[in-house]
Amino acid sequence: KDRNPNENEFHQAVKEVFNSLVPVFAKHPHYMKQAILERISEPDRLISFKVSWADDNGNVQVNRGFRVQFNNTIGPYKGGLRFHPSVNASIIKFLGFEQIFKNSLTGQPIGGGKGGSDFNPKGKSDGEIMRFCQSFMSELGKYIGPDIDVPAGDIGVGAREIGYMFGQYKKMRGAFEAGVLTGKGLGYGGSLARKEATGYGTVYFVDEMLKDAGLSFKDSTVVVSGSGNVSIYAIEKAMELGAKVVACSDSNGYVYDKNGIDLDTVKRLKEVENKRIREYVTVHPEAEYVEGCTGIWAVPCDIALPCATQNEINKESAEILVSNGVKAVGEGANMPSTLEAIDIFLDNQVLFAPAKAANAGGVAVSALEMAQNSARLSWTKEEVDSKLHDIMKNIYRMSKEASEEYNAPGNLVVGSNIAGFLKVADGMVEQGIF
Ligand code: NDP
Repeated sequence: KDRNPNENEFHQAVKEVFNSLVPVFAKHPHYMKQAILERISEPDRLISFKVSWADDNGNVQVNRGFRVQFNNTIGPYKGGLRFHPSVNASIIKFLGFEQIFKNSLTGQPIGGGKGGSDFNPKGKSDGEIMRFCQSFMSELGKYIGPDIDVPAGDIGVGAREIGYMFGQYKKMRGAFEAGVLTGKGLGYGGSLARKEATGYGTVYFVDEMLKDAGLSFKDSTVVVSGSGNVSIYAIEKAMELGAKVVACSDSNGYVYDKNGIDLDTVKRLKEVENKRIREYVTVHPEAEYVEGCTGIWAVPCDIALPCATQNEINKESAEILVSNGVKAVGEGANMPSTLEAIDIFLDNQVLFAPAKAANAGGVAVSALEMAQNSARLSWTKEEVDSKLHDIMKNIYRMSKEASEEYNAPGNLVVGSNIAGFLKVADGMVEQGIF
C-alpha cells in the first residue's frame, strides 16, 4: 500500500489473489526466493499520456490515456481499453493485474495488460468519438503491436471505437497489421462470436458449476446487471438454456419484468438507439422501472449475474441476495463483488463463479481472433463458439481441481487464482530474473 498509495481497487485485486496463494507458497517455497509476488504485482510499465482533441464546437478537450503492460511471460500483453470518466491508474492496474491470471486460465499464449481513458463517450457525436480515438491511438500506437501488446474493447469501447483506432494505427504504420487489435469489424479481420463471447462464456462457466451441484439454468429466475455488451449476451445465452431473466439495468436504474425481459427491446435500445434502459417500460408498460442501479439486487432470483462494473455488489446487496435464496452468482463484469460480499456468498454456500474465470471467454475469443489473423483465415461462428465452450469447461475443471488440490474444495476463487498463477510463476522462474 505504501508503494501504491490511494490505489484502492488495485489493493483489493492484489489482496484477493495473494490470500488465495498462501497454500501455494507453503508447497513451493522457491517462489518466495524468486520474489514472484513482488515481481508479479509490479507492472512491467505503466504508460500515462495526454489525449487532446477538438469537440464539435472547435473547443480543445484534454483527457488522460493509460496503458499498463503488466506481465508478458506467456505471450504478448493483452487486455481491453476502457473509456469511462472513472478511469485512473488504480482502475487500470487492478484490471491489468487480474488479466494476467485470466489470460493464463484461457490456455492461450497471452500476457496481461489493460488501458483506457477518463474520456466520457456519453453524449458525444460520432465525429467526436472518431477524433478522440485517433488522438488516443496516435500516442498508444507507439507502444503496441501484434507481438508486443494487443488491446481490445471494454466499457465504452466497442467495434466502432476499435475501427477508428485500427484506422489510425494502420495510417501510422503504413501497414495492415490485423493482429494489433481484437474486437475488429467482421469485414477486416474481426472474429465471429467475439461480440457474444464474454456473456456466452460466463453462462457456459456457470452452467458447468450448476451441473456439478445438480442444478441448471432451466426454469430458474435470473437477474443480470448492466445492459451493455457482456449483459446482453449473458441474457441471450441464459434464455437459450431455459432461464427466465427478470431484470437488467444501466447506471441510472433497473427494469423488472415479471414475464421475462424482452431481449429484442433491450438490444434495440442499447445497440441501435443508444437510449437509457428506462425506455423499456414505454414499450412494455407491464414492466417496472426503478431509479438507482444497486436496487436490482433486491429482486429475488436463483442466479445473479453481475455484468456491469466493479464493486457493484457490496456487503448489503450480498446479504439481500442470500436472504432471498440466491443459489449461484456468476461474475460477468470484472471484480463486481467486494471482498466482503464474496465472503458472504462463500459462507452461505452460494455457488460462486469469480470474474477471472467466468468472464475469460471474451479474451479467449480475442486470442482466437489473433490466431485467425495470423493464419489469414476466418472460422465459422459455430467453430468459434464450440472452441469457446470447450475453453470455459476447461477453465471450470482446472479451477475446481486446483481448489481440491489446495484444500479448499469448491472454492473457485482460490482455485482459479491458483490455476492461473502457477503457469505464469513457473514461466517467470524458467525465463530468469528480468
Ligand atoms: P459496456 O460499456 O458495453 O456496458 C457496461 C454496462 O454497465 C452498461 O449498461 C452501463 O450502463 C453499465 N454500468 C457502467 N457503470 C455502471 C455503474 N456504476 N452502475 C451500474 N451500471 C453501470 O461494457 P461491457 O459490457 O463490455 O463491460 C462490462 C463489464 O464486463 C466490465 O466490468 C468489463 O471490464 C467486463 N468485461 C468485459 C469484457 C468484454 O469482452 N467486453 C471482457 C471481460 C470483462 P451505462 O450505459 O449507463 O453506463
